[in-house]
Amino acid sequence: MTAISAASDMGLNTRIVTNASWATTPEKAREKLSQLRAAGLRELNISADDYHLPFIAFDRVKTLWFAAKEFDFSSVLIANCAGPNSVITPEWIKNELGEDLPTRFDDDGNSQISDTVEGKTFYGLSNANIQRVRYGFEEDVQSWEVGDADLNRPCPYAGRSISMSPDGHLLACCGFEFDADSPLRFGSVEEQPVDEIISAAYDGVILNAIASIGPFGVMKVVQSVAPEVPFRDDYNSICEICFDVTQRPDARKALMRATPILARFFIDQQVAAE
Ligand code: SF4
Repeated sequence: MTAISAASDMGLNTRIVTNASWATTPEKAREKLSQLRAAGLRELNISADDYHLPFIAFDRVKTLWFAAKEFDFSSVLIANCAGPNSVITPEWIKNELGEDLPTRFDDDGNSQISDTVEGKTFYGLSNANIQRVRYGFEEDVQSWEVGDADLNRPCPYAGRSISMSPDGHLLACCGFEFDADSPLRFGSVEEQPVDEIISAAYDGVILNAIASIGPFGVMKVVQSVAPEVPFRDDYNSICEICFDVTQRPDARKALMRATPILARFFIDQQVAAE
């Protein structure tokens, strides 16, 4: 609440992502929402998918969803991750709520949320594909056909959707928590001013490579210097590639060897632009 208030006072947009476990009754949901809204909260995301629902009954999601309609948030979204074998899908959720909600992303992964109207709450479904990274990888065996053409693209979030780890380090995005040795994990806000951390991060070769060439292109460069480093042939998303390239110790070691090639690429690009 304190953080929301402080961010709101600074004119920053604020959002929480919640599993709705606290929405045990409409009254409790309303009470908490009222406090959050008074603190300045603008956006509410409620998680609901196969991985949450064994622990949190969908009734709580429903309770929170309908309670939120009594408040003027700028957007209220149900965040769903699904794959081809999922039970809890956007269609399932729409059916349970009895509402035909717009989905946030189109088939190409482009956000459609820019269609929001000022002063009017956007209600919708934030539909994402399951990412087989970190804790989800062992249990989630879902895979589907994603061609190289879909994977070979820049990351629109690297350095543009910076988040903070629980121990105060800035991270390149809010995709997953990068470990201590990752080139996408930056300095600690407890030790350095935020603008200095960000400025140094923006000079980083790997961050720029992920943001401009994309993880697929970076993986190809890594493979060119270290063909012995194995990569999967069934990636579902660019984040899965990003995870392997920047987190796996063998790939990361090769990535460090590939960094001068990536740096050269940017220097050549800059020279060409001048
Ligand atoms: S590709 Fe990497 S930097 Fe971009 S959103 Fe995914 S995990 Fe984050």
